[in-house]
Amino acid sequence: MKKGIHPKYYPQAKVVCACGNTFYVGSTVPEIQVDICSKCHPFFTGEMKYVDTMGKVEKFQRRMKLARQFKQKKAKTKKKKPVIGSYKEAIAKLKSKSR
Ligand SMILES: [Zn+2]
Repeated sequence: MKKGIHPKYYPQAKVVCACGNTFYVGSTVPEIQVDICSKCHPFFTGEMKYVDTMGKVEKFQRRMKLARQFKQKKAKTKKKKPVIGSYKEAIAKLKSKSR
C-alpha cells in the first residue's frame, strides 16, 4: 500500500440504526448513523411500514386533506349554469334582448 494516500481504516466501525439496531462493518469513519437496516426494512420484516424520516408522508396527507376541503367548498359554491332548452328558445331569447 502506498503511504500517505489512504484514509484511516476502521475495521470495527459501529453502525447505529434509527430502530436501535447496531452492527459493525469496516469503514473509513468510526461511526455511521443510518435510518434503516436489515432488521427494520419492510423487505426483510415483511410488514408494511412508512419510513418517513423527512415527514414526506405527513406532508402529503396534510395536502390531501386541504385538497378535499377545497373541493367540498367549491362544490357548495358552484352555481348551476342556465340551461338552454333548444335552439329556437335561444334565438327567441336573443331577439327579445336585442329589442
Ligand atoms: Zn433498523
